[in-house]
Order: sequence, then C-alpha cells, then structure tokens
Amino acid sequence: MTQSLLTSEKLTNFIGGEWLETSDTAAVTNPANGETVVRVPLSDHTAIDKAAAAAKKAQKKWALTPAPQRAEVLFTAGQMMKDRKERLARLLTLENGKVLEEARGEVQEGIDMAFYMAGEGRRLFGHTTPAELPNKFSMSERFPVGVVGIITPWNFPIAIATWKSFPAIVSGNAVIWKPATETPIMAAELASILEEAGLPKGVLNVVYGRGSAVGDALVHHADLQVISFTGSGDTGRQIASECGKQLKKVSLEMGGKNAITVMDDADLDLAAESIVWSAYGTSGQRCTAASRVIVHEDVKEKLEERLLQEIDKLSIGDGLEEANQVGPIINQAGMDKITRYMQIGKDEGAKLLAGGYALDEGKYAEGLYFAPTLFTDCTADMRISQEEIFGPVVSLIPVASFDEAINVNNGVPYGLSSSIFTTDANRVFQAQRDLDTGIVYVNAGTTGAEIHLPFGGTKGTGNGHRDSGVQALDVFTEWKAVYIDF
Ligand code: GLU
Repeated sequence: MTQSLLTSEKLTNFIGGEWLETSDTAAVTNPANGETVVRVPLSDHTAIDKAAAAAKKAQKKWALTPAPQRAEVLFTAGQMMKDRKERLARLLTLENGKVLEEARGEVQEGIDMAFYMAGEGRRLFGHTTPAELPNKFSMSERFPVGVVGIITPWNFPIAIATWKSFPAIVSGNAVIWKPATETPIMAAELASILEEAGLPKGVLNVVYGRGSAVGDALVHHADLQVISFTGSGDTGRQIASECGKQLKKVSLEMGGKNAITVMDDADLDLAAESIVWSAYGTSGQRCTAASRVIVHEDVKEKLEERLLQEIDKLSIGDGLEEANQVGPIINQAGMDKITRYMQIGKDEGAKLLAGGYALDEGKYAEGLYFAPTLFTDCTADMRISQEEIFGPVVSLIPVASFDEAINVNNGVPYGLSSSIFTTDANRVFQAQRDLDTGIVYVNAGTTGAEIHLPFGGTKGTGNGHRDSGVQALDVFTEWKAVYIDF
C-alpha cells in the first residue's frame, strides 16, 4: 500500500526547475524486507556543473527577493508538509526502515523547521551600534553567501535536509543538495513540495549520486561558497581538507559516542526507559544515540535488571507495522560493522548481557535486523566504549563517583550529546557546566533534539558550526559592517 504512494519507479534529478533523467541508476531497497522500492539516479560531475550554473543564476534574483517573501515560500511548504505528513512518514519508513512513529516525528521536525525558519525570514536580525565619532551611523547586517552545497545522510533524510536547506533558502542562497543514495525519496518529495510552494526555479537543485562522484564534484566546484555536511568522520575530514584549500566555508556534523550517566540518586525507572529509547530507538542509528551508560556502582545491578526488563518488551520488525518499536539496520555494510564490534567487545573482556547477534530467522529472514545489545562491565577505554558503532549496542561502564562519571563522559573523541539522571540540583548545574558536548540533557535521554536550539557538537563531532536553531543562519550568511557618515 505504501509502495503505491510512489508514482514512478525511477527518480530523476531536479535541476533548474526541471526533472531530468539520468542513464545510470541504482536500486533502493527497503531494509525491512530487501524489496526494491525505487531506482535512484547515479549522476556524474556534469550534473553538478549544470546545477551550479542554474543555482548561480537563480540566486542573484532570489537574494533580491525581500526576505519576508522568501519566508512565505517556506511557510507554504510547511503547511504542505503538514497536509502530507502521513504520506511522507510512510515513504520515509519504506526507504529508511525506521518505525512509523519515529518517521512521523521526523517529518514533524521538518514541519517545525519550515515554520521556524519562515519566522526568521521576518527577522534576520542585524545590529546597530553606537559609533565612535559624531555624525556616523554604524550597523552590521547579514547577507547570503551565494550557492551552497548540502550533503545529507540516510538516517534523518528529511529532517536534516530541512535543518540545512531552510536556513540557506530563507537567507537568500541557492542550494545544491546531494541526498544519501539509500534514501532519495524524501528528497524528491521535499523538492516537489518546494516547487509547488512557489520556490523559483534553480533555488533548490537535487542531484543524486555517489559521494565519490557527486559529493566530490560539489566540494570541488568553484562556484559554491559553503558545504554543509552530515555523515561519517572520515568523509567529513576529507571535505574539510579540500574546503580548507579553497577557503570554502564548511559545516560538519560527524556523529557521537553519547553517554547517559545514571547517579545513585536517580529515578531508575525513568532512566531505564530513557536509555532503552535513546539506545535502541531507530536501531541506534542516530548521531545522538546513547551508546554508553555510565552508572554509579551502587545502582548498577538494579539498573541492569530494569534495562533487561525494558529490552525484553521491545517489539522489533517492519517499521510499517504500527506495533513495532524498533526497525531494521539500513544496509548490509551497517550489519557487518555492528557484527564486527560484537567480537571486539568479547575480545576486550566486556560481558554480554543481552543481544549480540543478528535476527535472521522467521519474520526477520528477508530483512536486516540486529538484536538490542547490552555489554556490561566495560571500561572507558575499550573500543566499544570509544568508537561509534551506529547500531543498537550499549556499553555499560560502572563508576565510583560523580567526578569519575564526568571524566568518562568527556573521555571520547566525540562531543555531540550527553545526559545525566540525578535528583541533586547541584549536580545538575555542575553537569550542565562540565559535560563537554554540544547538547546536554538532564533526566532525559540523549536523543530528540528540537529545531529551536543549535544542533551539533565539539571535538570529532564537528567544527563549531551548528545545524538548526537561529545559529544555523551563521553557516549560510556573511556579516557586512556598514558605516554611514552624515
Ligand atoms: N534529531 C536527532 C535526535 O536528536 C538526531 C539527528 C542525527 O542523528 O543526526 O535524536
């Protein structure tokens, strides 16, 4: 039924307002059952050249369109996304596998972002400041950077696209978007919504293809001023180094090794529920997923018990079936990586409390499913406690004090999200100050960031820029200082 929502078996690029076919395509498969959903174009650098020319032309006019009018397009798009929410959620589940409830949540994030950025279009605040000299007026204002390239991942194919493209569009830029080839349908849907909402031709261009062809061409193209990327650390570093050579602005979000700390005074029921949701929801395939639990030794056994009870209740399976809470892993490469870490964990001496294996029999036989996995008695320096696995795998690390918990939380190469469960107000404020991640939660899991606040992190997670929040505008605008003598 969901498959029939698709009107075409083959997607096309969207360049300069035209839907253009490519000769080369690849199959997109539903990870829940291995069936082909649609075919995605595999473009080459010529498509990027074409998109860059269209974007450059369109951007000049778009930048002259008053920002409140640009905002109106996003407002209309937000309303259309709202009207099509169920359709978008079902198609998202079909291509990505995440369960419907989460898909609806993700689409809602995109809707929120549309209305939020539409609001920013009526503000786009600059500053006026007192001048040092008489008869002088001084102010600073934002202006668009020009043409921007956005490269988005498969795990949040519509939300992350809106975090990047909406602030870029509302502030007067043109966008070339390379979506992940695993999840191209959301890009097609969002592009046609923006087209119908009245976005002028060429302001948004979608070019599908592999990172090595299309992503590379985007990063190298001289007409692009900004690259905004969410994905793996290796690719992000390559992009940063190429952008560095060209002095191109780059915004990177490259994952996390997020921890939930549970102190001896915590509400353990609340903590267990939140851990299970943050760790195993979306099968752990979130940058913000909780992949470490740092627990005070006095409550370790009790928490383990509660976690096992919660894990037991999880229903795993095809995300299109409403009752399921945890869906499949995106592809075989993802499965292989998770499987490798099972052996690594065992070799390092961690104790396996739950899961540890792929689910591949009966109703799971055709899909890519991994059992929610809990390692305990881990040390902070084990590879399973340090490296991003991007699957439903948790390393539980016992600690003896609050200070040790903070040190363990901070002792990883990433800095995206962290959380602490405690009822001690002093610890809350200390944790807020000392946890060195871009996002900190208190008495809540590590996932579920809202679009009103900046999203991103420190250390290996990123390079200081943020997706979403008003801070996202900093990526896509430059500041101009203006002095008027009179
Ligand atoms: N929106 C997601 C959350 O806060 C994270 C997005 C990501 O994984 O990149 O859970």
